[in-house]
Amino acid sequence: MTLEAHLKDIIVGLGEDPQREGLQKTPKRAAEALQFLTRGYHQSVEEIVNGALFSSDNDEMIVIKNIEIYSLCEHHLLPFIGKCHVAYLPNGKILGLSKIARIVDMFARRMQVQENLTNQIARTLHDVTQAKGVGVVIEAQHLCMMMRGVEKQHSVMSTSMMLGLLREDPRTRSEFFSLIQ
Ligand SMILES: [Zn+2]
Repeated sequence: MTLEAHLKDIIVGLGEDPQREGLQKTPKRAAEALQFLTRGYHQSVEEIVNGALFSSDNDEMIVIKNIEIYSLCEHHLLPFIGKCHVAYLPNGKILGLSKIARIVDMFARRMQVQENLTNQIARTLHDVTQAKGVGVVIEAQHLCMMMRGVEKQHSVMSTSMMLGLLREDPRTRSEFFSLIQ
C-alpha cells in the first residue's frame, strides 16, 4: 500500500470524504510533503561532508547561530520548529559552514525528539571534525504543546549537548553561551 493510499484512509478515518473537491489531491500532496519533511532518512553524513574538511591552524571557537530547525515530533507527527546554535573548537580541521547547516537539517528532517536531535548533531560534528570540543543548543516550540493538550503557546524547550572542552571547561562553555545570547 502506498503512502498516498494510507493518507486517503486517514482522511476517511477522520470522518471526511476524500472525493470532496478540495480533498481529491490531498493524499498525493500530503504524501509528497511528508516525504520532503523526512528526507533526512535518505541522506548520509559522508555524502554531505564530501571532502569539505579543510586544514586550519585556527584554534578559536567557531560559532554558528540561529540555524533554522524544522522537525517532526516522533510522538505526535506534529512539527517542532526553532533555532540551533553550534560551536566547535577546531583541532586542525574546519568544516564548511553550509555543511554544518546541512548536517543539522539531515537529522532534523526525520521523526525526532529534540533531545536526541541535539545529541546526534553534536556527536556527528565531533566525529567528523575531531574537534577539541563541540556544543549544540536547540531552542524550539512544539506544535504538539501549542495546538493540543496543554495549549502552551509560548513555551520554548531548550536542550543542549556539550562534548570535550565545552563540557569540561566552564570558561569555554560560558563563552559559547554568552555568544548565543
Ligand atoms: Zn509531540
